[in-house]
Amino acid sequence: MKENKLVLETLLRNEEITRQDIALRIPKAQKSGVSVLDVLLQDRIIASEKLLLIFHKEWGFEVYDPNKDPMDSRFLSLFTKEQAQAFCIFPLNQSDGGSLILLMADPMDEEALRSLQQIAKRPLKILVTEKRCIQRLIHKYYSQNQVSEENAIFKIGQTKSNNEETSIVALVNKIIEEGVSRGASDIHIEAYSEKIQIRLRIDGILQPMMRLDEETWRGLVTRLKILGECDIAEHRLPQDGAFTTNVEGRQIDLRLSILPTINGEKIVLRLLDQHKFLMKIDDLGFSKEQEALVKEIMESPHGMILASGPTGSGKTTTLYSLLNGMNRETQNIITIEDPVEFQMEDINQIQVNEKTGLTFALGLRSILRQDPNIIMVGEIRDEETAAIATRAAITGHLVLSTIHTNNAIASLTRLMDMKVPLYLLSAAIRGVISQKLIKRLCPNCRKEGFATIEEKILLGASVEALRLYYPDGCSLCHGTGYLGRIAVQEVLKMTRNIREAISLGKNYDLIRQIALEEGLIPIEESLKQHILNGETSLAEGMEILVFENEWHH
Ligand SMILES: [Zn+2]
Repeated sequence: MKENKLVLETLLRNEEITRQDIALRIPKAQKSGVSVLDVLLQDRIIASEKLLLIFHKEWGFEVYDPNKDPMDSRFLSLFTKEQAQAFCIFPLNQSDGGSLILLMADPMDEEALRSLQQIAKRPLKILVTEKRCIQRLIHKYYSQNQVSEENAIFKIGQTKSNNEETSIVALVNKIIEEGVSRGASDIHIEAYSEKIQIRLRIDGILQPMMRLDEETWRGLVTRLKILGECDIAEHRLPQDGAFTTNVEGRQIDLRLSILPTINGEKIVLRLLDQHKFLMKIDDLGFSKEQEALVKEIMESPHGMILASGPTGSGKTTTLYSLLNGMNRETQNIITIEDPVEFQMEDINQIQVNEKTGLTFALGLRSILRQDPNIIMVGEIRDEETAAIATRAAITGHLVLSTIHTNNAIASLTRLMDMKVPLYLLSAAIRGVISQKLIKRLCPNCRKEGFATIEEKILLGASVEALRLYYPDGCSLCHGTGYLGRIAVQEVLKMTRNIREAISLGKNYDLIRQIALEEGLIPIEESLKQHILNGETSLAEGMEILVFENEWHH
């Protein structure tokens, strides 16, 4: 497979990838006959959106936007389906100047460009887009029978010529693939009295994906039950299941939850994409100062490190990333989790099972008899677990855990509320990382504007003409104006004064005041920085800005 050196070099120069990232993927690329760049995309080392932006910034290629660049089917016949597939291109339209507007996933392939120009017999104007988007267009327009649109109702046997495509098995694959490719966390399959629909949860928001007819839906429910090893004859009780599948060489674990509603069984599939958990500390969204603090905190051989935040704030991902950075060869690392979300090599992971009595507290006691160096406790949510974890932390172990609180200081006072003795707590804690996830403005279509007076007040900005960024909408972000999420964080490192305040049982406000005096940068400040940099919008951060310090009591 021909390698695109220029693109790889540019990615290296922009520090999007490392030389090691490339080296590690050469064997896989050779084995499967694709380029290293393809493998980097598959492994999500580089996001496809990012690559498109690089084509745009470095070489001036415009990104395809279906709203701005309409399609004209008259130009389809310039290429055969096989040619379109082989070059991964799609002829879209003709420009005013008479050039053929051509969609390409790799516009840097000069050899391909020469051949394409010869075939088309006219100048080309290239728009870039994701490979997947081109494949979809080819599939849709070069096939005799047009297959389902987002709002058309999907029906088995709709196209007679292609059995595989229309079978339930293919439908399940299609749904999961689309969920994975769009970065969905959950897939909802739901029946109402007047319609049956599938929706994807992307960046926290449910978005419609397709509609189904009743027969297809029944087939789908049965197929998913079989995959999840559920009882297919049971329709009246809730059921849970799990299965694993492969999407483009990546292992995706799915958890299945079935709930009988008055209109039939509602299914939610949770996608556990193993790659999401494999992040380096540098990629977690910390500012330089915060990252330095985290690394200092991580240097302690023992003590307790907490990640706090609401549900879905990525705190577990942060813990996995911290664990990932530890030396697993010389240390005995044991985790107890509910559930085990990501399986790591050379780490002993235990799954909590309330039914059999294997609780966090019981598991933790047994772990302590296994000579551990590092213990990860999925979550501290009861007094007993809090007590054992804290004791472990002052007896020579490094204990990592999450706690469901709104900010770093609240984690300390929560542990006080859980009756952890103050002298133990003040001795045990090394640091707290508190985080929330907020939507990232789509870098392709965000627009700049002047802040209103109200916005300036919220940001505490006194600049006369303050520029901020606002969401718009384009094909990259499916018209939402947002693409992916960023973490906003605060990192609290223990100091002697904070320890003393804890051991004296001071309240939230006093501890917070001391922490601020000692240099704590609160989450609101990190957020303001992200807003001013245009990584997110003020509207998206509003809740944190307005409510952050009214929630902790
Ligand atoms: Zn956009």
